[in-house]
Amino acid sequence: MTDIIIVGAGTAGLTAAIYALRAGKSVLLFEGVAVGGQIVNTPDIENYPGIAHTSGFEFANGLLEQAKSFGAELKYEAVKELIDEGAVKRVKTGSGEYEAKAVILATGAKNRPLGLEREQELVGRGISYCATCDGMFYRGKDVAVAGGGNTALEDAQFLSNYCRKVYLIHRRDAFRGDEKNVAMLKEKTNVEFVLNANVTAVTGEQKVEGVEVTDKFSGEKRLLAVAGLFIAVGQMPANEAFSRIVTLDEKGYIAAGEDCETGAAGIFTAGDCRTKEVRQLTTAAADGAVAGLAACKYIDAQ
Ligand code: NAP
Repeated sequence: MTDIIIVGAGTAGLTAAIYALRAGKSVLLFEGVAVGGQIVNTPDIENYPGIAHTSGFEFANGLLEQAKSFGAELKYEAVKELIDEGAVKRVKTGSGEYEAKAVILATGAKNRPLGLEREQELVGRGISYCATCDGMFYRGKDVAVAGGGNTALEDAQFLSNYCRKVYLIHRRDAFRGDEKNVAMLKEKTNVEFVLNANVTAVTGEQKVEGVEVTDKFSGEKRLLAVAGLFIAVGQMPANEAFSRIVTLDEKGYIAAGEDCETGAAGIFTAGDCRTKEVRQLTTAAADGAVAGLAACKYIDAQ
């Protein structure tokens, strides 16, 4: 039996692994999407203390190598179910069943869809949730970004380096993201702000050919001819599989405080998947340390 199973190999999960492994515990990590979590999509990190500049990919890769150097085992399997039998926690994936003394849920969050008709059908055919992954396909073309947080602002910045024109569509006239990012975009001659507006439809049969935006106040509609729509309207949790074992808050995040305790003995949570105010790389790493050490303490007390 593994000492600790960690569900999710993002910043929180990998940090928890490093702390637990250094405390002498065996660790098995499960990742169903991509190692590193959301940060791999960030082109430039400049707010992680002690690291002036790095890319999300580089950061995630470093973290993975660090965890592996201490002996972390990683399986690319999505966890479907968690069964709590007290001293034994059973984790079921599509490929097998695994046992651990303690579990850390570090499932992060997934991209929030805009809720447009045919949105999922057009993913990969003009609709994307990751500018750094897909931006290159739109080199020299006109594209739109929807959202007003740092992700949307950074996506627009990234795309403006390759695309002919970038429309940044936001439902308000004030941005949620950092003023520094907004100021940088204002300097760009190929970025147009479309504010107080919502994307209400996508045009094009086989692939995206345009987006319809509707002014929030006047109701006036405008058709923007674009080849791509990058949706960056935040994240939402993906904790449904654990809802019978741990308490979820009204938004679906795992209810836990700064101690990362879920209320279920031996089951901890860390990072963006738990109820919290600030979801940042630093807070994910901090949670990972807290949850990793709490899991070790729990095991030692058994
Ligand atoms: P976010 O900060 O939650 O922003 C989401 C944006 O999408 C908001 O502007 C929101 O509008 C808009 N939105 C939400 N639902 C919408 C809908 N149905 N229709 C239209 N617009 C909608 O998400 P994020 O930008 O992904 O950032 C998540 C966290 O990661 C934040 O804490 C952010 O600072 C951080 N982050 C940091 C960096 C960095 O430091 N390098 C980079 C990326 C992200 P309203 O503003 O009107 O609510």
